[in-house]
Amino acid sequence: MNSGLKDTDRCVMCGLCLPHCPTYALSRNEGDSPRGRISLMQALASGRLEADARISAHLDGCLGCRACEAMCPSGVPFGRLMDEARALLHEQRGEGPALPALVRPLLRADGAGRAAASMLRVYQRTGIHALVTRLPGLSAGRLGRALDMLPRRTVAAPSPGLYRPSGDPRGRVYLFTGCTGAAFEGNALTAARDLLVHLGYEVEVAAGQGCCGALDLHSGHTAEAREVAERNLRGFGDSGVPVIALNSGCRTQLREYPVLVGEQAIAFSGRVKDLCGFLLEQGSELFDLSRGGPDPGAARGGDPVRPEGRAPTGDTTVRIAVHLPCTLRNVLREQGAMLELLRRVPGTEVVELDGNDRCCGAAGSHMITHPAAADALLTPKVEAVRRLAPAAIVTANIGCSLHFQAGLRKAGLDVPVLTPAEWILSVVSGQWSVEKCDNPLTTDN
Ligand code: SF4
Ligand code: SF4
Repeated sequence: MNSGLKDTDRCVMCGLCLPHCPTYALSRNEGDSPRGRISLMQALASGRLEADARISAHLDGCLGCRACEAMCPSGVPFGRLMDEARALLHEQRGEGPALPALVRPLLRADGAGRAAASMLRVYQRTGIHALVTRLPGLSAGRLGRALDMLPRRTVAAPSPGLYRPSGDPRGRVYLFTGCTGAAFEGNALTAARDLLVHLGYEVEVAAGQGCCGALDLHSGHTAEAREVAERNLRGFGDSGVPVIALNSGCRTQLREYPVLVGEQAIAFSGRVKDLCGFLLEQGSELFDLSRGGPDPGAARGGDPVRPEGRAPTGDTTVRIAVHLPCTLRNVLREQGAMLELLRRVPGTEVVELDGNDRCCGAAGSHMITHPAAADALLTPKVEAVRRLAPAAIVTANIGCSLHFQAGLRKAGLDVPVLTPAEWILSVVSGQWSVEKCDNPLTTDN
């Protein structure tokens, strides 16, 4: 048997995971359940079955939500096993479900990726999206689906460099921007940077960083995932400075680097922090409005997008609905910090969105490669948003955010989807400025 799949033996076939599996709930087919997928992995690894389209469909259909792993009494490491199985499938059958070629450049953290992100912003501003997606043959294909997922408006992410507070810094942190930062997360990253600088931290955006490697690893491209992991290890060095990663999916991948590249990544893994947990450790300073808050307009130097007129003012209270990403709940188990932090934001009523125990269907590239399942999983959540009528959805993973934004647009619901940092910034913002400096420690690799 393939040695990486040996841990499938830990499965005692009890079936306790089945009620927690979203794909099994949709199809009621054992092959789409964790137990069925483990049996298929065992058959593949032992050579009893050869990879064919049917087996690939069952394995590729897995969301990687790891709900099964979170509740398995036998400790089956399902996420790692699925990565191994997909690598084996990739070896035996070649390419699995892939992202359209036009989208790939947006997921690169190099100069080409930034150029693609700039082109995306031009595309968004000209409003030609509606025309393009109506071109014959495009709307039904993967490219049409991917274009539908693009946010309608984004701003540039903070460029590499060191951002300093006005007084003596109380410490330094790195901000992980990953591959999606330049194209999709300008607002979220800028808001996080602004809050951290406001609290007195120097924030470094390292030029040597790149994609976390999750998309490659989960599609069977293990060697490519290792390559980007090693690049990040070099990019963040061994200084011991915390690395704040906003997305729970990226954070999971960064923390699990020791599984991918070995013990050289153990110290780095321990440096990877969640912004919400980090902000909670700062006590009540963040919400001490008498100190004056960060001013998004002054700090961004770009084109800020925020929920105008929706943030609470004076004595009003505004409701936000929180969507908890699977990696945050099932792997990192850091949802408590996010909820606690949001509950401390003045004037904010925090409501957990119904169905938070189930994947929204985004699941990395799954929302593009498996549109029917992705939409079926999202629909009840969109209906929950309709019932709650919140001022914003707050979530902590870019895939979930893009999937929700597209689903809400389709349902005709005008509700912004924000990160915790964006919501907090919109509430506590005031007069404040940030200085960008050249950083002698930052090098391009
Ligand atoms: S993965 Fe765990 S919970 Fe699921 S059938 Fe196997 S042993 Fe039981
Ligand atoms: S990771 Fe999620 S979708 Fe995949 S088998 Fe486990 S519960 Fe089902």
